Amino acid sequence: MKLLIVEDEPEMAASLVAYLRPQYVCEVATTFDQAQEKMLLYDYDCILLDLTLPGGDGLALLGELQRRQKADGVIITSARNALDDRIEGLRLGADDYLPKPFHLPELGARIAALVRRRRFGGQNTVRLRNLVVDVPARTAAVGAVPITLTRSEFDLLLLLLANPGRVVSKGAIAEHLSGDAAEAFDNYETVYAHVKNLKRKLAEVGAGDYVGTVYGVGYVIKVSDL
Ligand code: CA
Repeated sequence: MKLLIVEDEPEMAASLVAYLRPQYVCEVATTFDQAQEKMLLYDYDCILLDLTLPGGDGLALLGELQRRQKADGVIITSARNALDDRIEGLRLGADDYLPKPFHLPELGARIAALVRRRRFGGQNTVRLRNLVVDVPARTAAVGAVPITLTRSEFDLLLLLLANPGRVVSKGAIAEHLSGDAAEAFDNYETVYAHVKNLKRKLAEVGAGDYVGTVYGVGYVIKVSDL
């Protein structure tokens, strides 16, 4: 899962990245222009949005997302705690508003809740036949047998489960797993490797046929038995 951290204070940005990186692919934008460029080019599961930025007001970025009908989740993280800002932020489509200073675990819980709400209808667990994925705990099991997945493999599985029956393209997977580093590789070796490992681990517990390959296009979770 991919986050965009819009934050101009270097220490704050660094502590957010250090806290969130074990769970999420994190990108950082430190100015209004940088944030605008990234938000329009890429899709994020969640954007953490500071409002007071060099070059402009974060609220204007929200307006831009809304105009372009982008569906990224947004949590405003701001020291500006005026009621007007909160109301305006929520009116412009922000999902949540966390005033600074905040505790990192609270931010983590709000991000997890947002992703869950948006992707899986608020459910903590996603089930496909006897595969059970616990989203906040980041664990997966087939029947009673746990599957040990790397962060990328888990994110790949979640991405496919969030799009049941729909083919997810190699490009979308590459962007989801590696952020804008995806631009750097024009072949899909990394995607192939993660898919291969995920399929192998599923096969080892008898769930080898869950992820289908659409040759030349991408991958799909087979939902015939959902
Ligand atoms: Ca700021």
